[in-house]
Amino acid sequence: MDAFEQWLNMSWEKNAKERKQITQEKRQSCICPACPSYNRCAREHSELLYCIAGKSMLCISEDTGCTCRKCPVTQKLGLIYHDFCMKGGEAAQRYEHELH
Ligand code: SF4
Ligand code: SF4
Repeated sequence: MDAFEQWLNMSWEKNAKERKQITQEKRQSCICPACPSYNRCAREHSELLYCIAGKSMLCISEDTGCTCRKCPVTQKLGLIYHDFCMKGGEAAQRYEHELH
């Protein structure tokens, strides 16, 4: 089990309040607003933490670069993938790659 899987298991053992707090801490570390693909719509909707929350539903569709690899959350959770706002969260991308 790698760091991300351990983190997922750990977070599901917590109650809703603790999960919210953990997510809030990670949101503060998210550097998406410094990314060239992050646009005004995403900013106005306070979208962040796509690696956990999943794709941007309404705002981001044009890939002009991704700064996820430089993000502290990537290091801390051992994320393998990136472009989460367009391709889906880490768990979803892992699942998709397992199927192919
Ligand atoms: S890895 Fe990407 S989506 Fe996840 S917190 Fe960092 S910048 Fe945001
Ligand atoms: S997930 Fe990656 S591509 Fe999308 S806004 Fe965040 S840093 Fe940029």
